[in-house]
Amino acid sequence: MREAILEGKRKFVVRDVPEPVLDEDEVLIKVRYCGICGSDLITYVEGVPARYGHEYAGEIVEVGKGVKGWKTGDRVAAECIGSCGECYWCIRGEMGLCENFDLAWSQSTGGFATYTKVKCNRLHQLPSQVSYEQAALAEPTAVALHAVRLSGMGLGDVVAVLGLGPIGQLVVRLVKIAGARAIYAAEVSQSRIELARDIVDEVIDANVGDAAARIHELTGGRGPDVVFECAGAVSTTQQAIAMARKGGTVLLVGVGIHPVEMLAGSVALRELTIKGSMVFGAGEYATALNLIADRKIDVASLITSVMPLDDINEAFEKAVSGEGGKILIKP
Ligand SMILES: [Zn+2]
Ligand SMILES: [Zn+2]
Repeated sequence: MREAILEGKRKFVVRDVPEPVLDEDEVLIKVRYCGICGSDLITYVEGVPARYGHEYAGEIVEVGKGVKGWKTGDRVAAECIGSCGECYWCIRGEMGLCENFDLAWSQSTGGFATYTKVKCNRLHQLPSQVSYEQAALAEPTAVALHAVRLSGMGLGDVVAVLGLGPIGQLVVRLVKIAGARAIYAAEVSQSRIELARDIVDEVIDANVGDAAARIHELTGGRGPDVVFECAGAVSTTQQAIAMARKGGTVLLVGVGIHPVEMLAGSVALRELTIKGSMVFGAGEYATALNLIADRKIDVASLITSVMPLDDINEAFEKAVSGEGGKILIKP
């Protein structure tokens, strides 16, 4: 079989590798599509050797001896985030906080391959109306769902979303069906602005306008009830903290890797709540898949490129450029 292996900074090489050997509780999946995640990009640029590709869907082609309830030919997606399923946090259902996250991550088999294996308790059956392409977006949809739930956003709240990459795009769609009164967003990429234009009340082109000032104006000088920072950048993190209304909530969804200076007193005096959001918790992957199956959220329109495994470097560079929506690899 063939698998894309990262062999240096920004350098995948597609290699012929042996098919994974199944443990008793595992299945072998023929990967139909695997999405490039924003989290993959940080390690791709740094050249961190890991197994890449956790947003995949495909069909079962082999089942381990101890697997019950699954058979060859089943159409599936796998909840294969790097959680162990056994530690204190996993048992609480807070898999994003798994204490073995890095280890579990490095030991999982990647989805940028013709075949991959996964434990059968991570599988989800695809309803017939859900395509493999749509199912590859179940994981990022679960990530966005987790952030929206953690935010405590309520019916009638005014929401701002800074950064409209795939996660930001999914957040605006979810807060819309969750009953936001108004949704404002800011983004620098024209293609991403276009993808959100019909969903949000106003999307500010941050290249030309001052997003914070405009959102302040739109909210009568008060600021949004909830601000989602989905870019992972220093400037958007500072803006998010500055623009939230008094008593409001800021959700840090983007994974910022640079220090952000802030005035702690301004958070205290304004009684802000600042929360982080990490992948998703128990049951949220299934909920995301249900929302896709029931057409409550349209994820297909967010897929802007589908590229073959051999073009994976080009696909990653496209993702790093910050243009467009979700990029899928078709092994
Ligand atoms: Zn992901
Ligand atoms: Zn764990």
